[in-house]
Amino acid sequence: MAELVNRFSYSLSQGNQFRTCERQYWFSRYGSWGGWEKDALPLSREAYRLKKLTNRYLWTGNRVHETIRHTLDLLRSGSQPDPVGTRDRLLEQLRQDFRGSRDHPRKTPGPKNKVLLLEHEDPDSGVSDTQWKGVVDRALSAIDGFFRSEAFRLIQKTGYASLLRNDDVLESMDSAVEGFVFPVYVTIDVALDTPEGILILDWKTGKPDASGSHEEQLGIYALFSKKKWATDPGRIRFSPVYLSYAPERLDLSPVTEGMLDLATENIRTNAGKILQKIDDPERGVARMENFRTTEDPSECRRCVYRTLCSDSPLKTATTFP
Ligand code: SF4
Repeated sequence: MAELVNRFSYSLSQGNQFRTCERQYWFSRYGSWGGWEKDALPLSREAYRLKKLTNRYLWTGNRVHETIRHTLDLLRSGSQPDPVGTRDRLLEQLRQDFRGSRDHPRKTPGPKNKVLLLEHEDPDSGVSDTQWKGVVDRALSAIDGFFRSEAFRLIQKTGYASLLRNDDVLESMDSAVEGFVFPVYVTIDVALDTPEGILILDWKTGKPDASGSHEEQLGIYALFSKKKWATDPGRIRFSPVYLSYAPERLDLSPVTEGMLDLATENIRTNAGKILQKIDDPERGVARMENFRTTEDPSECRRCVYRTLCSDSPLKTATTFP
């Protein structure tokens, strides 16, 4: 089998992770690489195991996305999933996940696709029953919100055959920094072919972004859509849908040529900042010490690599050889 190479790539979530904490990015992209090998270093093996942990927000958000995707697939195939049954199935799935994670032996890798939660793995990250109930209630309200959302009404009105995308397929487009070409990965929740052009919808389970800014996300989606569907930028629009908080709202942002130029520049700038820290982006060589740790302890409290991170402002790590 050909050797796997950790060649550099970029995505919105990687850019966000790097901005949150460079060291966390390093654990995720470099420290954990090869941790699945039999002769992996203890640090790589542990970082790889920790990388597969999730937290209560990501877990419930992923299950909500999955439920909506499945619901739209059913509707597209002619079935009529009812809102109450859909909500009940999500609740049952969340209960199963929760029990599976809670009863899993700590510090041991789980089978592929098993949900293992940081809150169960690390006693310092534990949360109260009220907090667990809060995230589950929010996930259920997101599904209720989906069925009464303006976005869902628009999909129904436009017709399920107009769904260009309803999945989490990872696709990519190329970008380059100083002659180094790399893929930029994109996942789109929903792309709808409407009479006014392509509408991209992004399901959100969290609170509306206080800044109201989705510039980088919109830019990456717009660049990708223009290339993928060969469409005029003026016919691409984007809207986040805050399922639990404001599902009736559809804040459409139109795309302009200027935004595409800015998005191209943003990708280059953000990827360029990461590339400056990497010794060899072709072969995936990057030294940990080049990646700064955050100074914000609140980021460390929800970081899966906390027990490995000896330079964390929380200083709670165990030492690995
Ligand atoms: S524990 Fe803190 S400093 Fe260390 S990787 Fe995580 S967020 Fe960064």
